[in-house]
Amino acid sequence: GGFEPTMWLVCERFRLIEDLQDAQCERQAMSRITSLVGDITKIEADAIVNAANSSLLGGGGVDGAIHRAAGQELVQECRLLHGCKTGQAKITSGYRLPARHVIHTVGPVWRGGEEGEPDLLASCYETSLRLAAEYSCKTVAFPAISTGIYGYPADLAAGTAIKAIRSALGDLPGIESVMLVAFDEQAHAHLVKALKRKED
Ligand code: ADP
Repeated sequence: GGFEPTMWLVCERFRLIEDLQDAQCERQAMSRITSLVGDITKIEADAIVNAANSSLLGGGGVDGAIHRAAGQELVQECRLLHGCKTGQAKITSGYRLPARHVIHTVGPVWRGGEEGEPDLLASCYETSLRLAAEYSCKTVAFPAISTGIYGYPADLAAGTAIKAIRSALGDLPGIESVMLVAFDEQAHAHLVKALKRKED
C-alpha cells in the first residue's frame, strides 16, 4: 500500500477494477498527469486511448487486448471509420470495456528518429486529448504509444508524451486527469523520470 491521499483520489476517479494494492502510482502535486502500472483495458475512464494501426481493424499488443475486452462490436464500428493516418486519432464507443470511449490513434513506427517520429508521437497525444475534450471526457488513459511493436525507445517516448500532454492540457481545462498506463515496471520508471523532470 502507501499511496498519498491525492493518489487515492485519482485512482478512485479512474475506479480501477483491479486491486489497487498491486498498482503503483506516481503523481506530482497539483498535476493532472499520473502514471501507473496496469492493464489499460481495466480502467474506467471516460476514454482510453488505443495504440492502433492505420487500418483500425485490430492488431497485437494493447490493440488486441482492447478489441478482445471490448467485443466484436468495436471492430464493427471501426470498419465504418475507414482507417486513420499516423499522428491522427478517431473515437468510438467502448462497448464492453469499463471505459465509455476508445480513442484510436496511430503512432509512428520508429525508424531511427530522423523521420518525424517525435512530432508524430506528440501529435498522437495532442489530437487524442483534443478529441477527448470535444466529447466532454474528463478522464483519459493512455498506453505508451509506439513503444511495443512499433519500436519507439521507451525513454524518449515517455519524454515526448509528457511534454505533449502538458502542452495540450494548457488549453483543455475540461480534462481533469490523464492517466499514463505502463504495462511493466520499466516503462513506468521511464514515465516517472519524465514526470519528475521540470520542463523539457
Ligand atoms: P505499438 O504498435 O504502438 O508499439 P503496442 O501495443 O505493441 O503498440 O505497444 C504499446 C505499449 O503498450 C507497449 O509498451 C506495451 O507493453 C503496452 N501494452 C500492451 N498491452 C497493454 C495493456 N493491456 N495495457 C497497457 N499497456 C499495454
